[in-house]
Amino acid sequence: MAGICAAHGILYFPLHDSFSHTTRSFRGVYRMSRIKDLVRKGSKELYKKCLDKWGIGTQMNMLIEESSELITAVSRIMRGRDKILNNLIEEITDVEIMIEQIKFAYNIKEKVLIERDRKLERLERRLR
Ligand SMILES: [Mg+2]
Repeated sequence: MAGICAAHGILYFPLHDSFSHTTRSFRGVYRMSRIKDLVRKGSKELYKKCLDKWGIGTQMNMLIEESSELITAVSRIMRGRDKILNNLIEEITDVEIMIEQIKFAYNIKEKVLIERDRKLERLERRLR
C-alpha cells in the first residue's frame, strides 16, 4: 500500500511485496511456478527476429524512447501524480526488453554481467 511520508511530503511505496505461492501483478495473479517460467522468456530467436525486421538503429532509438518513458514514470511518482506503480512496472519492463535486445545485438551480455558484478562489489564497499 502506498502512502505519504509526513515528514517530507513525499509519496512512498513499500520496497517489497510479500508473497508466498502467488504474486499479484496489475495484469493478474501469477503462481510462482509461472513466474519462474517467465524468467526464461525473451529468447535469442525473438531478439534476432526484431533486429532482422527493424534493424539496430530503430532498436537503439526505441531504447532511447523507452528510457524517456521510464524517466517520465519515475517523475510522475516523485511528484505524486501516479499513486500506483502500474506505469512504473510497465516502463521498467519496456526498458529491460530493449536493453536485452541491444545486449544481444552487440553480443555484450557477458561483458555487461562482468561490469555489473564489478559495480555491485564497488557499491558493497561503499556501504561498509
Ligand atoms: Mg514504454
